[in-house]
Amino acid sequence: MRAVVLADVHANLISLDAVLADARSHGEFDELWILGDIVGYGPRPNECVSRLKEFRHRALAGNHDRAATGVITTKEFNPHAAAAAAWTADNLLPETVDYLAALPDTVQAEDFTLVHGSLRDPIWEYVFTVEVAAAHLELQTTTYSMVGHTHIPTVVEEQKADLPTLRRLSAGERVRLKAARLILNPGSSGQSRDGDPRASYAILDLQARTFTHHRVEYDVGKTQQQMREADLPRYLIDRLALGR
Ligand code: ZN
Repeated sequence: MRAVVLADVHANLISLDAVLADARSHGEFDELWILGDIVGYGPRPNECVSRLKEFRHRALAGNHDRAATGVITTKEFNPHAAAAAAWTADNLLPETVDYLAALPDTVQAEDFTLVHGSLRDPIWEYVFTVEVAAAHLELQTTTYSMVGHTHIPTVVEEQKADLPTLRRLSAGERVRLKAARLILNPGSSGQSRDGDPRASYAILDLQARTFTHHRVEYDVGKTQQQMREADLPRYLIDRLALGR
């Protein structure tokens, strides 16, 4: 079984299509695993949801998906994110709202638990520190888990009698799935924040027992143009080219 693992698509259809084309160039895959924040920030929420529906996939909700359907308020969002969330909510088709509203907080697939934030707080908490990673691992009943939300490709490895280790994945890096419990983050396909503006994703291969991180260039200018046409906040448009 091969799955393409995506997080934080953020309504960026240009980068999503670049990721799907790149993933195909690495071989056939069976499913998409989507770690939340399909919408929010970007200009093509309905189109991104329709594209994902073309594939067999498993998905769950992030904070932006919950805000788009009105389940949570945007008062904890920064002003740019709140403005984009309001735009998103105004522009969703009814079938997109139905799809997003039905997304669960967590999904179990094979020996993996999938969640947007952390298992302690699926919608909001960032697995940015070893302390949060340790709290997450305590709640993790599968050998492996996958998270998004930070927009930073990361691997956390549990250590015996010590805090886990947490480090960034470099482009093209391959993590071997062994007995050690892991938290894997593929980075963001739609709004990179690690200083590299390329789209970030991973391919999980359960036969080879590998999780391989990938980076792919996409036409950032085209997404920025769509954002300008939608009158989305300037700050959000500019950050895409910087990858932060
Ligand atoms: Zn996000």
